[in-house]
Amino acid sequence: MTAAVRIPADELDTAARVLEGADAEAVLAWTFGRFPRVAVVASFQAESVVLIDMASRLRPGVDVITLDTGRLPQETYDLIDTVRSRFPVTLHVVSPDPAELDEMSRAHGVNLFYLSPELRHTCCDVRKTRPLAGALAGYGAWVTGLRREQSTTRRSTPVVSRDDGHGGIAKVAPLVGWSHEDVWAHVRSRDLPSHALYASGYTSIGCAPCTRATRPGEDERAGRWWWEGDSIKECGLHPVLTGAGPAADLAASSGRADAGAESTAASAATPGAEG
Ligand code: SF4
Repeated sequence: MTAAVRIPADELDTAARVLEGADAEAVLAWTFGRFPRVAVVASFQAESVVLIDMASRLRPGVDVITLDTGRLPQETYDLIDTVRSRFPVTLHVVSPDPAELDEMSRAHGVNLFYLSPELRHTCCDVRKTRPLAGALAGYGAWVTGLRREQSTTRRSTPVVSRDDGHGGIAKVAPLVGWSHEDVWAHVRSRDLPSHALYASGYTSIGCAPCTRATRPGEDERAGRWWWEGDSIKECGLHPVLTGAGPAADLAASSGRADAGAESTAASAATPGAEG
């Protein structure tokens, strides 16, 4: 396995400024031009399929990594196979370390996530965070479907950044400025397959025991770890960011003082979160 290349932060900061507001395909084209080894990390929500559609046209055979936590809904496995047969991708289905799973379940049971927030994070760490860290070794960049309007914790997400949690490789979020409507317009225009659970009222889809459908008016990620109430709806794959972030910075520099506020307001009801 090739060692990860630690990308200079100032190079990526410059790229983030240049690519802020660029269309998603331009961001992906820059990524593939800059890095020989790029992985699209897919949860198989709508954003993932949009990125796979774009990336596989730009680089046929592109690596797609997905985390099989062992607790996914059957509908996610069905969509994984659909995407695999339709798009020219090299799919890597990554599983947790069996020894770590064994140790965790012996110590805390198989439904430990319901017992405390700490044990929920332990489960996400074993089933998601550690497997992703291993899977990204050797890549220069990974691509994620994060969007700023999905939640306040994602509002500051840059389009390009250095991911020091994964060896200093580049983290690229081509859809960062997309709205929920943008995503679904692309899904419809390209006739892309989508996760079956959207039709059952799900607005964000993760592991089966930790996700429920949302009710009208609820935040899109309210169905994730719902028993925790207002906890931060992240599993550890993406750092929790705070602050006004690039959207507001861009608004300030362009005179669009309302852009950051739009982003916040839109976070209230937008299905299709990644991760
Ligand atoms: S979402 Fe739930 S089942 Fe999946 S890894 Fe996290 S705690 Fe475990």
